[in-house]
Amino acid sequence: MKDYIIRATDKKKQIRAFAAVTTNLVEEGRKIHDTSPVVSAAMGRLMTAAGMMGYMLKGEKDIITLQIKGDGPLRGIVVTADNKGNVKGYPYNPSVDLPLNSIGKLDVKRAIGNGYLTVIKDLGLKEPYIGQTKLVSGEIAEDLTFYFYNSEQIPSAVALGVLVDRDWSIKKAGGFIIQLMPETDEETISKLENNLKKISSITSLLEEGKLAEDILEMLLGEIEILDKLPVNYNCNCTREKIRKALISIGLKDLKEMLEEDKGGEVKCFFCNSSYVFNEDDLKEIIQELS
Ligand SMILES: [Zn+2]
Repeated sequence: MKDYIIRATDKKKQIRAFAAVTTNLVEEGRKIHDTSPVVSAAMGRLMTAAGMMGYMLKGEKDIITLQIKGDGPLRGIVVTADNKGNVKGYPYNPSVDLPLNSIGKLDVKRAIGNGYLTVIKDLGLKEPYIGQTKLVSGEIAEDLTFYFYNSEQIPSAVALGVLVDRDWSIKKAGGFIIQLMPETDEETISKLENNLKKISSITSLLEEGKLAEDILEMLLGEIEILDKLPVNYNCNCTREKIRKALISIGLKDLKEMLEEDKGGEVKCFFCNSSYVFNEDDLKEIIQELS
């Protein structure tokens, strides 16, 4: 089954809801970065959220970046998404190995540690929107719930799940984001709260064969699906973009790269594609900067 995200609303149109199946997306990220299970879980949860949050963006060229930085061994993760279902990410340390936590789950919280979640929305304006909140749990879904409430004043329920198989491949991944509109009535809220308590984890629902649509129905009752979008791991790097990144490291480092190595290979953080900049390329960049 292909990965996808749906956007839906409840019968009274008081709730906006997103649900995603992202198994292939997370598996692709795992293969590119050769991530350990706990890092696959952490990056997979963040990419799943970014896919849905990208879907909330209005403009064709809008980009959302979610960044987590923590004092745990993983140190951080960066993911970005657009509103067309293109998601990519990279973990600072892909090979973190930790024992399972007290309930036998991958210990994402310990891998991340204490730190901050930063949400950057590039909406084509002069300045991007930047919201930052302290990590309240390090398990990512709770941190995003807190972010939505604290920075965007939107009461939300966020669930994100990644199930890693014995061979470290991704067996299931997905999630949902449910948001209350200002006019949501008490009855709708309490029904939703009850349903949230009743459902098991996202990955066990997906394992039972439930679809994103089924999960939203379990939470909201009758739903109206507004939109459905495929979601993929996709990096849009180009030689030109990597060249710009190279320029940003500054004249001193570029000169060093020229003198010591006579050029070199620069890899894209997100997809590991490599771009070679030889002696002449570097001389040209240095000349432009000088
Ligand atoms: Zn790339």
